[in-house]
Amino acid sequence: MAAVQLRRRGIPFRIFEKQPVVGGKFCYSSMGAAAVSNTGLDISRFHGRHARFVSDALAALDADRLRAWFQQAGVELQDAPYYGLVKPAGGGAEVIGALLEQVEDALETRAVSGVRKADAGFTVELADGENLPARAVVLATGGANLPQLGGGDDGYRIAQSLGHTLAPVFPALVGVRVHEEWPLRLPGLWMDVRLRLLEGRRELAEAAGSMLFTLSGLTGEAVFNLSHAIEPALARGAELELAVNFFPSLRAEEVALWLFRVFGERTREAAHEAIDHILPRSLGAALLARQKVKRGARVMQLSERQREALLGEMLDTRLKLRGTLGMRAAEGVTGGVSLREVNPRSLESRLVPGLYIAGQLLDISADWGGFEQHFALAAGLLAGNSVPQ
Ligand SMILES: Cc1cc2nc3c(=O)[nH]c(=O)nc-3n(C[C@H](O)[C@H](O)[C@H](O)COP(=O)(O)OP(=O)(O)OC[C@H]3O[C@@H](n4cnc5c(N)ncnc54)[C@H](O)[C@@H]3O)c2cc1C
Repeated sequence: MAAVQLRRRGIPFRIFEKQPVVGGKFCYSSMGAAAVSNTGLDISRFHGRHARFVSDALAALDADRLRAWFQQAGVELQDAPYYGLVKPAGGGAEVIGALLEQVEDALETRAVSGVRKADAGFTVELADGENLPARAVVLATGGANLPQLGGGDDGYRIAQSLGHTLAPVFPALVGVRVHEEWPLRLPGLWMDVRLRLLEGRRELAEAAGSMLFTLSGLTGEAVFNLSHAIEPALARGAELELAVNFFPSLRAEEVALWLFRVFGERTREAAHEAIDHILPRSLGAALLARQKVKRGARVMQLSERQREALLGEMLDTRLKLRGTLGMRAAEGVTGGVSLREVNPRSLESRLVPGLYIAGQLLDISADWGGFEQHFALAAGLLAGNSVPQ
């Protein structure tokens, strides 16, 4: 996106990409998403101590401009009927294709190994040994996640070598691992939930949305949206719990009444079957097993304490967190180049004039569902428009 702006403005440039396929992460689809924006685009969906940093980039390319921009480039962005996703019909590859079409002649599949300050700007060092002079550099090497798709620490290293500081980098937009084994026995179960990330009584993050049980842990929108807070807390030695409410859109009294009615009408039925009227059977069975209700036990055999504890689990199941599924599974990162050292209006480094830093390399993370790509595109546009003639 930065290169497209430079072309439009008649500024000569070269693009270096270390992977044979450009835009690997953009082309990857997550939970059927591949969203480049979201109808709920707002700075409240961005995380980090200085999340307001994104406002200038988002003003330069807001939701309407993004749509119009891609429409002009021949890509129709559509609103998906779920999660507020805004996506191209042809997936991320269509977006990358439309960008590349305009600048492909300047693209070289070569890795950059370093960038040094030089008298009249910079020396760009390529991994194949060639050194090139540059008046300005736009550093947009993405985050450390998914090394199998080009993620790595090259950009962080280059920024540090030029004097920038890094907020520690951790996986974000990622599934979690829990100590309990019962959730791993429900693979494929998908539910709407409300989640709270707790350190003792302190709530570190909160999120609502879908949650998917898998063989290795829990994933899905709600899990992704609080995952940014997990690894930084674990790194300082925190013990974390996930509190799961399986009835996010009901009040506790409504759930209690529902359970009371269902059990009241089915006193002779096996509890494992009666629970089917409230929860997916596999989850209901797991929650009953946690209350030591034997298989085949009838509803009327449940003690008052067991019923209360079951209700408690339905509204507030506690799971001990072991960590996230790690960088190889993460769709994003938290941490990166310190935002204090970059001018949000131009994305030019405050420490090294002529250096522009864009996209996921910056200490910004966002909710799942198109926010990250929108910011990456908007930041590219802002940087490309800020390089002086
Ligand atoms: C599986 C997956 C699904 C995702 N789904 C979504 C989604 O649906 N919606 C959303 O908003 N976000 C999504 N994301 C996040 C989103 O893709 C990223 O936020 C976005 O790609 C960041 O853009 P970027 O330009 O900063 O970095 P990137 O897209 O990572 O691009 C950086 C490029 O720099 C190259 N590079 C790195 N080092 C060097 C070097 N030394 N020399 C030359 N080239 C180098 C890399 O190969 C890469 O191509 C997803 C991410 C993943 C991994």
